[in-house]
Amino acid sequence: MKIPCELIKDLMPQYIDNLCSETTRNYINDHLSDCTDCKEYHKKMCMELVPDTLSPEDVELEKEPFLKIRKKNVIRLLTSIVLTAVICFAVFIAGSYVIGEVGFLSDIFSPHEHGFAELNEENWTIVAFESGDETKQYFEPESIFFKGEIVNHANNPGEITIRIKDENGTIIADDISIPGGQGYHYDVELNKQYTIEAKAADGRYWIIVH
Ligand SMILES: [Zn+2]
Repeated sequence: MKIPCELIKDLMPQYIDNLCSETTRNYINDHLSDCTDCKEYHKKMCMELVPDTLSPEDVELEKEPFLKIRKKNVIRLLTSIVLTAVICFAVFIAGSYVIGEVGFLSDIFSPHEHGFAELNEENWTIVAFESGDETKQYFEPESIFFKGEIVNHANNPGEITIRIKDENGTIIADDISIPGGQGYHYDVELNKQYTIEAKAADGRYWIIVH
């Protein structure tokens, strides 16, 4: 009996999924052995149905390229993190070096003023600050990088005692002893003029404010 191709094609999904009866199956097998058209159709349909019939191993194989891509992305991410850290570190080191070595940058990032005075034990003496060719009786923090430290230079003869006056002449810190080579921290207010008066064993003293 010749079954119409139309019918064979209609039954093809059940045939491929092994859902038709033994008898139907045999009919289809017979037809397929004779009919090239239906054979082609069967082949095509089998290929289309492949994804549904993947074994667990096949599924793993299918996933592999994605796993590889993910691994690649993780490596790329880690590499960029490490590179960024290295670059930041290098910039920091180079920056510190430049700030330390280059005068004008040092002036910007570690602003300071040099003061000097001939001191004695009896009287408060005003510390004079260099300002170009002149000297002034005060210093004036003008930069946010000003740390607010008054340093008794290490080369000085020894300890000094200071007091700090604000613009109105009010004493804001009194009788502060600063050993040689050490500093005293005060609260900086920008663009205000401060006067330092000092006492010490007779001698010439350098006082740095920064
Ligand atoms: Zn056919």
